[in-house]
Amino acid sequence: MHELSIMQNVVKICEDNAQGKQVKSVTLEVGELSGIIPDALEFCFESCTKGTLLDGAQLIINIISPKVRCNGCGAIFSAKAYYDSCPECKGFDIEILFGEELRVKELEVL
Ligand SMILES: [Zn+2]
Repeated sequence: MHELSIMQNVVKICEDNAQGKQVKSVTLEVGELSGIIPDALEFCFESCTKGTLLDGAQLIINIISPKVRCNGCGAIFSAKAYYDSCPECKGFDIEILFGEELRVKELEVL
């Protein structure tokens, strides 16, 4: 499962940043175009954090609405998928500004 390796990576980043302290909560930002399923992240959170500094921590996932720019007319809009067309000129030459990312936004330690 794709999300499993992502979560293992997230746990590693958090442990590196927690400096040996127990983690209380982790806030992740997941872009809607990242292709990551938040439910799947939550599903593997517990097994990935067992025995780590994140054991028992709360997982908070913020979904980020993507922003894209149309290269045809310069309009900036929110797209739900890669194949969305520009609402202004109906063009398909769009560039993703953000919404593909997954990042650790906040880490709360005890
Ligand atoms: Zn356009």
